Amino acid sequence: MGEGLRGELREAVAAAAQADDGTPERLQARLDAACRLIVALVDDLADAEADAVIAETLPLVQHDAQLEIELRRRLARELVTYERYRAVVQLSAALEAAQALGLAVLEAELAEELRAAMRDEGGTSTLRTTSSALAEASRAANPELAARMQLSLSASETGAIAEQHARTSVELARASGEVALLHEATARLAELLAERDELAEARAVLVALPALAHARESRALLDEIRRRLDEPVVDPPEVAAISVPLDPQLRAFATRPHNLVQSVVDGGLLGADKIREWSSGEITKPADLESQLVFGPVRSYWCACGRYRGRDYAGIVCKRCGVEVIDAAARRTRTGHITLREPVVHPWYAPVAALLLDLPHAELTAIPPFELQERLLAFDAARLEHLVDELKYAIVTAPKARIADAAGRRLALVEAFRTAAARTFTQPASIVLALVPVLPPNVDLPIDRDKVRDAYAQILEAPARSQAAAVAGLFGALAAH
Ligand SMILES: [Zn+2]
Repeated sequence: MGEGLRGELREAVAAAAQADDGTPERLQARLDAACRLIVALVDDLADAEADAVIAETLPLVQHDAQLEIELRRRLARELVTYERYRAVVQLSAALEAAQALGLAVLEAELAEELRAAMRDEGGTSTLRTTSSALAEASRAANPELAARMQLSLSASETGAIAEQHARTSVELARASGEVALLHEATARLAELLAERDELAEARAVLVALPALAHARESRALLDEIRRRLDEPVVDPPEVAAISVPLDPQLRAFATRPHNLVQSVVDGGLLGADKIREWSSGEITKPADLESQLVFGPVRSYWCACGRYRGRDYAGIVCKRCGVEVIDAAARRTRTGHITLREPVVHPWYAPVAALLLDLPHAELTAIPPFELQERLLAFDAARLEHLVDELKYAIVTAPKARIADAAGRRLALVEAFRTAAARTFTQPASIVLALVPVLPPNVDLPIDRDKVRDAYAQILEAPARSQAAAVAGLFGALAAH
């Protein structure tokens, strides 16, 4: 933002002030102009002037608490992306005003916005100081909110400071009477205690918790601490992974087509959108090819670090190891993806591109993948529809059977792409790969899984110029069965 635009915004504020005749519309126009200037100033890091404009603007709404809340809330929303602590300051003042007015619904909304604004773990120290002051201020008025703030402060800190916030949060949660919150805060405290091997105290605070039906996190933590204390904890019986059928389109992708046109219909050519939609995570290094974070746990309903054990914890994502507590069958169906450094022509479908573009195969290989992608992108729905008519006409008017045959083959392919677009979102441009789907580590296909994994590793490790060869190696490994 330039000084010129700032000057214009300052003039707009002055003009709106001049025009203010005391009507609500004129006041609103003044507030609008001031907000625009404040946002521009904060964006420009002109903090002192921004503060001055805020200080000049607030008296305009002091006669009406609702207006003041509205203004502060608006400023918070507009400033939160630039400077989170400014949003926190405005929201806390708005919250205080709402509390004074006894507007319960508005108060709850503002508290939620405030929590969201503070959810930035590891935020700036200014934000932390502001939040601490705020949490302190709302102690008596709203212990639940104060407990949540202390909890998020604890999450953004480590060591003794984190522990202090957790302790305060536990105390406030108890005062609020919110049992679920008390469990959450206590689990945080116990986790921090366990981190510094204060296992007996960690155990004691968890055991003292009131009963709660779905207190899964605190229960798992208590079991973990008991295991570390060598107390007997019975593990749930191992769950046999369920059997799940493989997605037919993924099967088609991994199977070398006998009939390319049929394979296009079956969706064996995966578009980038589909690959991304399916993917549970990007694979960037060979070690990720077995990742439990991406593909799910090796053992059904056990996270990787072993905190969550058993079906009772289904669906939880472990905060420590990041693994979702689900059936190990996921490792047979979940895919990942690799982003290629440069686009690569799918080696199995190069003849399809040649036929569609009506080019000899040899000529095709001379086209750089980027350019080929551009050319294939031109084959959108309208172009394909048009091509159907064109080819039908070419067939009936062909002077020789050979020419009619060639047009017929092209027509079958165009029809296949039209069917595929409707069914599987496959486009002709999908022939040029920007992403490669990574098959599930335990995929149920008659392939040599070690060989395929090695081929993926080669793609990850290959320099950009030899990535195409590595991609060809992958499809070679898939075809070798
Ligand atoms: Zn875990």
